[in-house]
Amino acid sequence: MICPSFADPKFLIIATDVPALLYYSHIPAIIISLLIGFFVFLKDRSSLAGRLLLFISLSFSLWTFFSLITWTNNNSELIMLVWSFFGALYVLLCILSLYFVYVFIDKRDVSFKIKIILGLIFLPAIILVSTAFNIFNFNLTLCGVTNEGVYYTNYYYGVGFLMFLWILFLLIARYRKAEKEMKKQIILLGFGIEFFLLSFFASGYIASLLTENSYDLEFYGLFGMTFFMAVLAFLIVKYKAFEIKLIGAQALVVSLIILVGSQFFFAKNQTSIILTGVTMALSLGFGYYLIRSVKHEVERKEELQLMADKLAQANDALRKLDNAKTEFISIASHQLRTPITAIKGFASLLLEGAYGELSEGVHGALEKVYSSSERLVSLIEDLLNVSRIESGRMVFAFEKATVEKLIKELYDNFILIAKTKKFYLDLKLPETPLPEVMMDYSKIRELVSNFIDNALKYTEKGGVTVKAELRDEGVVIDESGFVIEGKKSEFGKVVRVTVSDTGIGIPREEIPYLFKKFSRGKDVSRLHVGGTGLGLYVGKAIAENHHGAVWIESEGADKGSRFIIEIPVEHVG
Ligand code: ADP
Repeated sequence: MICPSFADPKFLIIATDVPALLYYSHIPAIIISLLIGFFVFLKDRSSLAGRLLLFISLSFSLWTFFSLITWTNNNSELIMLVWSFFGALYVLLCILSLYFVYVFIDKRDVSFKIKIILGLIFLPAIILVSTAFNIFNFNLTLCGVTNEGVYYTNYYYGVGFLMFLWILFLLIARYRKAEKEMKKQIILLGFGIEFFLLSFFASGYIASLLTENSYDLEFYGLFGMTFFMAVLAFLIVKYKAFEIKLIGAQALVVSLIILVGSQFFFAKNQTSIILTGVTMALSLGFGYYLIRSVKHEVERKEELQLMADKLAQANDALRKLDNAKTEFISIASHQLRTPITAIKGFASLLLEGAYGELSEGVHGALEKVYSSSERLVSLIEDLLNVSRIESGRMVFAFEKATVEKLIKELYDNFILIAKTKKFYLDLKLPETPLPEVMMDYSKIRELVSNFIDNALKYTEKGGVTVKAELRDEGVVIDESGFVIEGKKSEFGKVVRVTVSDTGIGIPREEIPYLFKKFSRGKDVSRLHVGGTGLGLYVGKAIAENHHGAVWIESEGADKGSRFIIEIPVEHVG
């Protein structure tokens, strides 16, 4: 059976303005949806969301293509055939949209239960396709099926409505639990897909109610798909959904060009041809620029990622090396300690005359052996301490002890050195005895000893004062090693020991570095004194383990310095 053609005067309403709108609504919608569907799918064939999107675009394109056939073909059997698939395709599209939303947001497949439910919803659509429930009358004059089964129509529009609501509630539920970035994606996706479903179904449904002159309404519904695809392309570009930013941009540009290009078919006069040409040229230029900049950005990001990966690897290797180094220092130091202790011990015995009288020359030489071996012992001790700190193996033996005793012992140790250098070494202790403090006696002794040793080392004239006092509150030190004004430590009363000297002083900008491993001030070289730059680093770790603070104060170069430590009287843990 042949329907009257569009050219037939009886068919005037359709013949005049349908084709333009028809091509505008159908062809770009098909092309855009297929483009994005395939782009996404080809980028990652294993992605379920990508596959679902391809199915959505395929079924939509099929629906649209069938719709195009019903409008442009006049073979009634063919029209009858394609018409009968509309309902099933409607239902399939709705179900796929819901499925897609689930997978896009949850990033995994839906449960078996949901699959069964969706399958059951789709079942009637397949079973009833070729029955009279679907189509039972064909209108030859209008060349369209005007009598579709009312149950069938209600069923598929009902499914459309149900899916619309299901997606809406799903989006709301997921939105509540989502993180900030995902929330934005959910809103966008929600708008895109709901707008698509609503426009597609509402227009179809209304058109089916107003059979007369309502054909164009259905066409407008198709723009919903273009909108949905544009939203998806935006999601891809903006949020890297599907990891295909570049392809998203290309798809956008290609669709734009096709849309503009299709205008050429409808341009009726020269002005509109020129205008379309200009728009086309502009779109091409803009598209080229967009794709190029996105490409650059993607390349730069990839480069950055590559560099970050390499950096992470290098970091890893460094960490391993560092651990090996710590281990090596520990082993080497242990091995060195025993022979050097023996050298030091025998030198001391020889100096004391345990092996008989020594000539003056030998005595002098032995004294050098003794002091050098002493320096070596303390260097090895420092190295061992560093490796203990780094491997977290520094052990503390806390006990109640007085700082006064410790300071007096150190005074006795250093007074001779001070005197030979013609320096003064003063002790300032409070009148009321200091309370006992919870501390590792030998480690705090090592720390204060290093302060006094340094003070004598880095001073050219004048001398050193060691002061101990009890204070009600301790200070807090910032990252750079300076006291934070107005902030008090949480550990209550503290004992503070200050070692001040009249030496070379320290420029303010050097202070933050001196507590770092192996770091020494710039001015020390002119004094020609030995040192490793480890003492303060070790001291800081000791103070921190006492919940105490250690810091330096100096008015600047040549203005002397104060090295201060505070230990809480009652430290916790
Ligand atoms: P070392 O004394 O072995 O170099 P330290 O860690 O004890 O290592 O000290 C680090 C650096 O701090 C010293 O090299 C020196 O530059 C600076 N320093 C320490 N004490 C004083 C001081 N009393 N006066 C001036 N500078 C000092």
